[in-house]
Amino acid sequence: MKFSPVPAYSFGAVSDISAAFLREIGVTFLMLDLDNTLAPYGADAPEERVVRWADSVRAGGVRLFIVSNSRRPGRAERLAGMMRIGYIKNARKPSPAGIFAALRESGSAPDRAAFAGDQVYTDTLAANRAGVTSILVRPIRLSNAFLAARYGLEAPFRAMARPAQTRGDRRIRR
Ligand SMILES: [Mg+2]
Repeated sequence: MKFSPVPAYSFGAVSDISAAFLREIGVTFLMLDLDNTLAPYGADAPEERVVRWADSVRAGGVRLFIVSNSRRPGRAERLAGMMRIGYIKNARKPSPAGIFAALRESGSAPDRAAFAGDQVYTDTLAANRAGVTSILVRPIRLSNAFLAARYGLEAPFRAMARPAQTRGDRRIRR
């Protein structure tokens, strides 16, 4: 079990992760964090562009699944339902247990799977421990001082990730 806080890739937003990029790295199953990755904290619905992105990634042959730490009753259910994807709530990341459960439920192998989320100390750690490709995205909104401070503490690990952005068919690496 790899206990590393360094993400394999980083993107500006979840909607920047294209099906073409995922195919290129051999990923057919993409697990997703919910809060501040698909929707801001407290928002009742995913952002419109996130819903459109989910449709396009699915059309590109990638299955999606939400693995959320949210314990708010109904929240994960509602958002997953709106995006028409499966979910696990109360996943207790950085434990890899929720990711293992999602892999089992989907019948996907870890080397064909990735996990995208906005937090190093929960999402990236859980993904690396589970042995799936870790993708870090920027939080949708740093709505309070605590979130901003945590984002600052994550900076060194964000900087160590490979920035992989697809523009059209061309992957740009810096
Ligand atoms: Mg999050």
